[in-house]
Amino acid sequence: MKGTFPIEKFSHLSTPFYYYDTQLLRDTLFEINKEAGRHNFHVHYAVKANANNRILSIIRENGLGADCVSGGEIKAALKAGFPADKIVFAGVGKADWEINLGFDAGIFCFNVESVPELDVINELSAAKNMVAPIALRVNPNIDAHTHHYITTGLNENKFGISLSHLDQVLDHLSELKNIRLLGLHFHIGSQITDMDAFKSLCIRINEIQEHLYQRMLIVDIINVGGGLGVDYENPDRNSIPDFHHYFETFYKHLKLRPKQKLHFELGRAVVCQSGSLITKVLYVKEGVNKKFVIVDAGMTDLIRPALYQAYHKIENITSDKIEEEYDVVGPICESSDCFGKIVSLNQTQRGDIIALRSAGAYGEIMASQYNCRSLPKAYYSDDL
Ligand SMILES: *Cc1c(COP(=O)(O)O)cnc(C)c1O
Repeated sequence: MKGTFPIEKFSHLSTPFYYYDTQLLRDTLFEINKEAGRHNFHVHYAVKANANNRILSIIRENGLGADCVSGGEIKAALKAGFPADKIVFAGVGKADWEINLGFDAGIFCFNVESVPELDVINELSAAKNMVAPIALRVNPNIDAHTHHYITTGLNENKFGISLSHLDQVLDHLSELKNIRLLGLHFHIGSQITDMDAFKSLCIRINEIQEHLYQRMLIVDIINVGGGLGVDYENPDRNSIPDFHHYFETFYKHLKLRPKQKLHFELGRAVVCQSGSLITKVLYVKEGVNKKFVIVDAGMTDLIRPALYQAYHKIENITSDKIEEEYDVVGPICESSDCFGKIVSLNQTQRGDIIALRSAGAYGEIMASQYNCRSLPKAYYSDDL
């Protein structure tokens, strides 16, 4: 089964470009709101997955907050109309100007990852006579069983404060006058499809909460990060991730204290299936043992296959001839500029249009101008 695209409309547009199914994005947001709403959970969208203004605006219209990891993302979120009190700011290396930008905008919370960062935030907020709301990012030492580049919750990772340091950090924090501890923050990795990883996270958080309780400490907010995966193999059958099962896992296993709020930071699961990279076939080249389809998009437009050997479903949306096997490659001067090896495509020729599916997350936002290429454009189903 192939996705449905407005192919006649595409023929007027110059390739490559991102195509966003804005109705699917709205349907996805509807599901998120329905399933999170059942339990009164709050969802922030992780802007790093896709910071396209049009996409951000649709997400904001549907009531999600924004999870930012840089000053630039805070600006993008504000520009798209997210209210400052729904913006959180995370990241291991926040520069002073970025922290000050967060203060001046009046954002909801800083997710803090180290003691030196705590000290700097305290100092900068003292200089402004403020008390900065913060959440401590704790590294729960949970293996998310995902690709090692996108596993973040293990002790060996650079992210968060390790459990063994938590008491020391809390002692230190109690001496900082210009900081208020609002919550605890966790994030164990990305593209997680096994709910057991989230269940393990819940159990670990319960233990940590028990421990804090002995210190007479109850935080207002537990933030469990993001990481829910999508089905890259079957983007049409599973166009909307199983949010029901996901939120239910936390509802079942996480013990919240009275009045404590649960926050999520979903990126990929919100936007991934709504986006495709659309590219045109330049040449079909006969190699010694195989055929290459050379397309006009490259790793500069979609870097995930080159960076993580990530799989994207590839479809020839203009051919219904019998299928043949091809390697699908881009024009960039790097051997890793390959979108897929031994891909079954309907027999392909110059001028055909190829869709790389599930490219709405970590696609357009990671584009570069290597080889002096232009950044890919974007079109939306609403407009075509
Ligand atoms: C990347 C990231 C997210 C979003 O991850 P997804 O896998 O896209 O849902 C959420 N929180 C933090 C802290 C992150 O670094």
